[in-house]
Amino acid sequence: MDIEYIKSQLTSHPDFPKKGIVFLDIFPLLRNPITFETLITHFVHHLTSHTIPGSPSKKIDAVVGLDARGFLLGPIIALRLGAAFVPVRKPGKLPGKCVSASYEKEYGTDSFEMQADAIQPGQSVIVVDDLIATGGSAKAAGELIAKQGGKTLEYLFVVELLFLKGADKLDAPIYSIVKSE
Ligand code: IMP
Repeated sequence: MDIEYIKSQLTSHPDFPKKGIVFLDIFPLLRNPITFETLITHFVHHLTSHTIPGSPSKKIDAVVGLDARGFLLGPIIALRLGAAFVPVRKPGKLPGKCVSASYEKEYGTDSFEMQADAIQPGQSVIVVDDLIATGGSAKAAGELIAKQGGKTLEYLFVVELLFLKGADKLDAPIYSIVKSE
């Protein structure tokens, strides 16, 4: 029931940010406090009461949120779990020593950075973003976690664009609330 409720409040925008792309927007969900609460509770319930494949009853040490909409969901989920929140950002935004990983975009490559002391070796980590398309950005986040000796337990998304098969690129299972064909 909550999945249908969340899905009903997503909006789609043809030809944004450029022609041929249908952009799915999660911001309407955040405008309604009951929907936002439902969304966060859905993720937290999944993480605390469902077994993540291959990682039964693992404590989650950190939630990694991707620039930029992962920053809106990740810190709330982290607080509810009593875990750390760690941002992954576009290059040049984070102070101090950083690790970086590049990923393929539609045209050319881009890269992501994480502060070098943000994840400790052996920590169990969850990655959160609003949407997975090709999976390139989530894969780069997974590489940053692995570089620091962390283990990604699962990748969480509000929306998964199934036809792009982004999940196939990742080193851990994915969980998405809305699956879009
Ligand atoms: P990927 O790296 O190809 O999986 O693209 C995912 C990234 O692009 C995420 O950070 C999303 O926020 C963003 N993105 C791509 N398409 C959409 C969309 O339709 N709606 C919202 N974000 C999108």
